[in-house]
Amino acid sequence: MLLIGLPYLGAAQNQARLLERAEVVPAQEQWLQPGDRLQLRAKAQSGAQVRTSWGLQLPELHPSLANGQQGVYQVSYVVRPGDTLNSRRIKLYAQLPDGRRDSLLTTTTVRVLDPNVPQLARTRGALAYLNYGLGEDRLGGAKIGYLDSLVLLHVTGRVGGQYRVRLAENQAAWVPLEVATLLPPGGLVPQSLTGSWSVSGDAQYDYVRVSLQERLPYRSQLLLEPSRLVIDVFGATSNTNWITQRAGLQEIENVYYEQPQPDVFRIVIDLKHAQSWGYAVGYQGNTLTTRVRRPPAKLELRGLTVAVDAGHGGDNQGAVGATGAKEKDLTLAIAQRLRQGLEQKGATVLMTREADVSVDNGARIVRLRRAMPHLLVSVHINSSGSKDTKGTATFYRYVGFRPLSQAIYQELLKTGLAPWGNVGSFNFGLNGPTEFPNALVETAFVSNPDDEQRLINSEFQQQVAERIAAGLEQFLKDARAKGPRGWWRKQPALAHE
Ligand SMILES: [Zn+2]
Repeated sequence: MLLIGLPYLGAAQNQARLLERAEVVPAQEQWLQPGDRLQLRAKAQSGAQVRTSWGLQLPELHPSLANGQQGVYQVSYVVRPGDTLNSRRIKLYAQLPDGRRDSLLTTTTVRVLDPNVPQLARTRGALAYLNYGLGEDRLGGAKIGYLDSLVLLHVTGRVGGQYRVRLAENQAAWVPLEVATLLPPGGLVPQSLTGSWSVSGDAQYDYVRVSLQERLPYRSQLLLEPSRLVIDVFGATSNTNWITQRAGLQEIENVYYEQPQPDVFRIVIDLKHAQSWGYAVGYQGNTLTTRVRRPPAKLELRGLTVAVDAGHGGDNQGAVGATGAKEKDLTLAIAQRLRQGLEQKGATVLMTREADVSVDNGARIVRLRRAMPHLLVSVHINSSGSKDTKGTATFYRYVGFRPLSQAIYQELLKTGLAPWGNVGSFNFGLNGPTEFPNALVETAFVSNPDDEQRLINSEFQQQVAERIAAGLEQFLKDARAKGPRGWWRKQPALAHE
């Protein structure tokens, strides 16, 4: 049992510290539940007995396990039912054979959750999302995907700035504290039977609506060949005995479900066209609604709405080259030229910024989701620690949107820039929307002297803008050529179509 000990009385104050450091690993605020590991580490003089107030010993590690250091003590304890710790620092005690003693509190606190009183939370805001794990880099942790607001989550732990939430029996995810509101104790663990479905189309979109008793978490994936949307709803179990597909559907070919696990309900939506034009998943009340976008009536720039995002701006200057060229200025110059080119071809262009102003990426995403362009191109300039790294690259997040970034990449190579690559699963905010195909262009490396010389040249900026526009046209041409999936075409249409 973890019981918080009495204050330690014996440590002499004015000796060199016997116990130099005490910490929970990782050294962040943690919430644990039975079955989780409480990991403690201490640095003390070698040869001591180190323990917690409740008598858990931290053995001294052999130096070969501690980067050659002596006096590193460590233990891993599996939390048991009935253990209690209420957001407290843990006091470690050390004693040497000569009787000298010391004690020290861990730098961060630990709370043990009581599984009998589930801790629930609801997502909040327009940009709530789930992460796979605790990883962090300049792009943040790897995202599972966005969630609607007010989705009910079962919090089973916390490390630092993220709550761990249970998705299914063997699946967990992490959610940042700032997009989840904890609920007072007393709720029931989120679960639901699925109710009736409605599959229908209106003037603009096709919809699949599945009624649930609660707003459960979900994840979605857009697959290729065949083009297919797969949505897993966590905590849901089928009570769906029929699915009526009504008139008005234009992009949805088939809908059905699977129950891959007792608490994972999978909605499968087969799409008619090889190229998906996006989708959105969210709730209307407790009804999970998947809105599927249809291809534009004409697959040509004329009549389409294209969002052009000039990266960075204002306080956020982005990368800076040796000559002082700033990414925020270069992206705006290229974006403005791209806008002009697209408008000349009859497209409507939405700019996320038109001047040297700061616009947060989250605000850009929220605005774009509201505006619903047909396509989005985000323009950035790359940078590397190595001056030798150069070339052009395009990025996508979802494989279903890859063709857009590939088409732009092929065109950009015609500028003579070195090939850097076409990069997938890229965890960049503006690659995040599922609502419309999107691509990130990392035009060239401002950190490379040759690339920088080109980037600051206005003729080259014009050339890049023209190649991006040509990439969009190629993407549309390819989508036209692909048309509906071949194996759909072979099947006779249903009578009502
Ligand atoms: Zn950038």
